[in-house]
Amino acid sequence: MGVFAASRMHHRPSGTNNPGQRCDLSGNLKNLVVGAGISGAVVARKIAEEWTEPVTVVEARDHIGGNLHDCRRDEVMVQRYGPHIFHTNNEEVWKFLGHFTEWWPYQHRVLGFVDGQQIPIPFNLNSLRMVFPKTLADRLEIKLLKKFGFGTNVSLPDLPRNDEDLNFLAEYVFQKVFLGYTRKQWGLPPAAIDPAVFARVPAVRISRDDRYFLDRYQGIPLHGYTAMVQKLLAHKNIHVHLNTPFARDMPYDRLFWTGSPDEFFENKLGSLPYRSVAFDFLTLARDKFQKVATVNYPNDHDFTRITEYKHFLDDRSDGTIISCEYPADWCAGVNDRQYPIENRKNAALHASYKAMAKGFSNVYFLGRLGDYKYYNMDEAIARAMAMVKELANSLKENV
Ligand SMILES: Cc1cc2nc3c(=O)[nH]c(=O)nc-3n(C[C@H](O)[C@H](O)[C@H](O)COP(=O)(O)OP(=O)(O)OC[C@H]3O[C@@H](n4cnc5c(N)ncnc54)[C@H](O)[C@@H]3O)c2cc1C
Repeated sequence: MGVFAASRMHHRPSGTNNPGQRCDLSGNLKNLVVGAGISGAVVARKIAEEWTEPVTVVEARDHIGGNLHDCRRDEVMVQRYGPHIFHTNNEEVWKFLGHFTEWWPYQHRVLGFVDGQQIPIPFNLNSLRMVFPKTLADRLEIKLLKKFGFGTNVSLPDLPRNDEDLNFLAEYVFQKVFLGYTRKQWGLPPAAIDPAVFARVPAVRISRDDRYFLDRYQGIPLHGYTAMVQKLLAHKNIHVHLNTPFARDMPYDRLFWTGSPDEFFENKLGSLPYRSVAFDFLTLARDKFQKVATVNYPNDHDFTRITEYKHFLDDRSDGTIISCEYPADWCAGVNDRQYPIENRKNAALHASYKAMAKGFSNVYFLGRLGDYKYYNMDEAIARAMAMVKELANSLKENV
């Protein structure tokens, strides 16, 4: 049974109207932000603070934070929409967030269940030694070091197919680590997925560094993501309305839209497709379930991965909470939009919506839904910061 089935948390940042009550949104709204996820919260904060203008945020859900939303259950900080690890090389973003949270110095490690054992993911020189006999592992390691050098990340298309050993390695990693996972994640054969998805993921890491991310700045907000977003929204110029989906009769001067563009245009050109994920949360009466926060199951199970939440903030509790992830197609009214499906057809549909958006000079689309683009948190934040900056410049020019 899902841990969220029995009770739901309500978060009420300062300035939030009582969830459930119809809020007064009848007066003209100077800045209306749709969505209280990280993109909406950053835009709201920047405008409220730097422009000293009022900002109204409407959020369809009963909580702030969007996909980052977390809350404590049985002493464990649980992330309701799946595991989120903050990582970035963007110093400006890191410094900005530092005003709203302290960080727990967490470094993410992922294991993959391959051929009956749990090996480091991305596949690296340690994984190599776990799955191959010593003579083959020695030979592969020498060839990899010679061709790419220590400390490099190699994506699958980069592994040369004219060398018998490296071709074997490429096939092994493709079959055992990527193929099953990709099929489950996207519900498609890999050939139908944009190659950019594979190129983005380091398939073989030529080092013994088992960390999943190598970014300069990494961590988990010490008091959780919801507390961080709550601080972002806690400003006298910001008013947040939960349980409040955008309505056509809301009057605004400027609208910042972090929902899906097709929804803004009432599906005039059709729905933008997404993948969704069902999270099956389980509370277990044992200290720990697995060695690391996330274990991938590329091959043998119908879920893609299991996450154990107490690893993130090193929570001390008698029991533990895990989630199994079951990817599925997004279906309106049934589940949440999670991953934009990046392929040519969907990019063309999105481009048509962007063309339509040009007719709305006071409406700005952003965020992982608004831009129909998979953004890591730091990218979503950088995009929101840049949008406010650009807008400020263009407003100055027009004065
Ligand atoms: C399973 C999963 C794991 C991830 N893990 C990581 C990770 O480890 N590290 C990382 O950096 N990134 C990760 N990400 C990406 C991260 O979730 C996004 O970068 C982030 O959520 C983007 O925030 P956002 O505000 O743009 O969108 P969202 O978080 O989706 O917020 C949008 C908000 O708008 C609201 N909304 C939409 N339409 C309306 C409407 N019509 N009216 C009112 N409200 C509306 C929604 O309810 C939602 O709350 C992960 C994503 C997924 C799906």
